[in-house]
Amino acid sequence: MVRGLERYTAINNGAAVAKFQILKRIEAEKAENFEDLLKIHSKLKKDFNKILSDSTIEILKQEPSQYSLLHLKRDILKEMLKECNFCERRCGINRYKTRGFCKCSDKSYYSSEFLHMGEEPELVPSHTVFFNRCTFACVFCQNYDIVYSDDQPVNPKELARMIDVRYRQGSRNVNFVGGNPDQHAHTISEILIDVRSNIPVVWNSNMYHSLELADIIEDFVDVWLGDFKYGNDRCALRYSKVPRYTEVVQRNFLRAKDNGELLIRHLVMPNHIKCCTAKVVDWVAENLGRDVRFNLMFQYHPIFKAFEYPEISRRLTAEEMKLAQEIAEGKLWNLV
Ligand code: SF4
Repeated sequence: MVRGLERYTAINNGAAVAKFQILKRIEAEKAENFEDLLKIHSKLKKDFNKILSDSTIEILKQEPSQYSLLHLKRDILKEMLKECNFCERRCGINRYKTRGFCKCSDKSYYSSEFLHMGEEPELVPSHTVFFNRCTFACVFCQNYDIVYSDDQPVNPKELARMIDVRYRQGSRNVNFVGGNPDQHAHTISEILIDVRSNIPVVWNSNMYHSLELADIIEDFVDVWLGDFKYGNDRCALRYSKVPRYTEVVQRNFLRAKDNGELLIRHLVMPNHIKCCTAKVVDWVAENLGRDVRFNLMFQYHPIFKAFEYPEISRRLTAEEMKLAQEIAEGKLWNLV
């Protein structure tokens, strides 16, 4: 068992229940307007938290409700699209009519889904679903082909069926990634409504979501697989065009720690050991604990627009990798 991922392991072993399967068994009332949807949600969220702490796998014997707390969450997310504040860019636009920074409409598109064998050891085989588009604009984006296109429209029922198929093929989790999953939260909730397997949900995110989004999605995220890219706002703005990076991401990691399990990824970048790696490691050790699961990643390579930035237009040197490793090992005790 991996420290920090005990509940995730228990779901894998059939000894605990994925959160979305609990949501599906909490009956909800329908409501006509957004305010009423939120009121019902707030009340049922308390019930959910109680059931989550007391639940056993026996709950899976109950039939899912016709209109459950998960349906209610989907309906809230669809309403939120009318003035989108899914992430802290807070475009405020109506995604049924136009597109904001991430260039997503109300429809979701994805690039591929498959059993990924290259994720952290505790995740593989991981059923990765690669959604298109992103709320960041990283100049070194390693997945830019996925991010800047709309490949195939998501059919929620069909993807739900595939999640069950991949589960039978041995997946240990369904891993919503991209790009980024946040801007597709309404579609993902719709998919999960039809998933039958008791499979942990992994949210592979840049952790730039809004608190409003967190309030809705945190009850179906079992593991936050969060990127912690930068140790300061200057680098975040320069390379990802993200304002208020540290404030938002630190806030979201603290909240995620309180309502799920965490696996943090940090991509080490050339010339960014002191300003980013060291700062991220320090903050994580102090605020999330030295025992948090942490993956220090060395696979950075210049791609996409990275060549326009001389300081990051090369791979890491052996000295940089050694220094980053020493910094992480000096503060954190649960490295991948
Ligand atoms: S998800 Fe974020 S970037 Fe996309 S439209 Fe909504 S607020 Fe804007």
